[in-house]
Amino acid sequence: MQYRNGISKGSRYMSSSESRDLLSKMSRSGIHFIASVPAPGGSNSLSLTEDQVVNYLDHPDLFVASHYGVSLGEYLRWKDEEFSVRCSALTAKRARCKHVVTGGSGVSPKCWAELTGQYCDVHENGRA
Ligand SMILES: [Zn+2]
Repeated sequence: MQYRNGISKGSRYMSSSESRDLLSKMSRSGIHFIASVPAPGGSNSLSLTEDQVVNYLDHPDLFVASHYGVSLGEYLRWKDEEFSVRCSALTAKRARCKHVVTGGSGVSPKCWAELTGQYCDVHENGRA
């Protein structure tokens, strides 16, 4: 049995309102909520409010995608392609080019989304 927004506590789950009470108590006690989120070269620390903790726990990937200003699909592909934008060209063997687009190495999700569909140095000028 698992409740949405619940926090595991031993063999049972806290209800949503118990979780909220705990978060409020922690916040009043001076405890800060910080999520470690993927970023090029390591991770970023993302400071969360009580409300954001609840949303984050509900769907971490969706929360971080929204934080970065991209769709969930873009965010997941950005992580999947290790923060770099791959060239959109197909090779002579009809496989996707493995090179990274110009300026597309280790970029933010927003930049990744903007550069998607571009080409590498070789394919940029129609050379193949
Ligand atoms: Zn290419």
